[in-house]
Amino acid sequence: MIRSEGDIADPAGSGTIDTAEPVVSMHRAAFGYQGRPVVTDIDVEVRRGEVVAVLGPNGSGKTTLVKGLVGLSEHLSGEVSVLGTPLARLRDRTRIGYVPQRHTLVGGVRATVTEVVATGLLARRPWWRRASRADRAAVQQSLETVGLADRARFDVDTLSGGQQRRVLIARALVAEPEVLVMDEPTAGVDHASQAVLAGVLQRLGAEGTTMLVVTHELAALRGVVDRILEVDTGHLVFDGTPRRYAVHQAELARAAGRGSA
Ligand code: ADP
Repeated sequence: MIRSEGDIADPAGSGTIDTAEPVVSMHRAAFGYQGRPVVTDIDVEVRRGEVVAVLGPNGSGKTTLVKGLVGLSEHLSGEVSVLGTPLARLRDRTRIGYVPQRHTLVGGVRATVTEVVATGLLARRPWWRRASRADRAAVQQSLETVGLADRARFDVDTLSGGQQRRVLIARALVAEPEVLVMDEPTAGVDHASQAVLAGVLQRLGAEGTTMLVVTHELAALRGVVDRILEVDTGHLVFDGTPRRYAVHQAELARAAGRGSA
């Protein structure tokens, strides 16, 4: 869903954002590893403000597809642009926020919630420069967005799995990305945390954040998602609204029933 038309003010202060321009545009795109394609023939345009769920069975290529946008899988062929810039020429990767799959923060070095979120700013400023007042405000703001402002000084390893996912979302948000790519943000957390995470995504969606969310838990994101892409064995097999997807699923179930009758 396009939430607004025309030009709006760019919060980063670099002029204006063309809201009609696709945020992500792929034409016959293929992504894979070591030169071998995993997903092929992908034709998709994601518009500003759309919240897109990427569904599909395990191993179908969902992660490979979204990793391609952040340079973690290889773009092998076809055309891919992010915010109007061909992927290969996209220098400012902070324009895409990425929340990786099954990533928790336990173990490793001790760090507070604030410290972890602040690492999301490192791509924007040299590591030796002290955090500015604006940086600290950005960290505070993103913690508020994910509902963890009261945990700012806690060690991350004292947080639940769901809270740690929210820390990772805050870390991605702090650099003010124009599109947020999340790989299974609600997987492996309890139902209460899933509901909180869905609420966070709902709030981001309502603010007009463009999101691509790989998920198996569409039910948890009901009302948040306004478009579904389904990937199967490396191909895009569905692209439409959740309502159309439900109809499509019902048709498949009916056809399977007829086949087995
Ligand atoms: P999904 O996210 O739908 O579960 P993936 O994109 O993770 O699917 O995986 C799709 C295919 O790509 C699988 O066959 C997997 O083994 C392969 N694959 C995933 N990551 C790598 C990698 N780093 N190197 C080589 N092959 C990989």
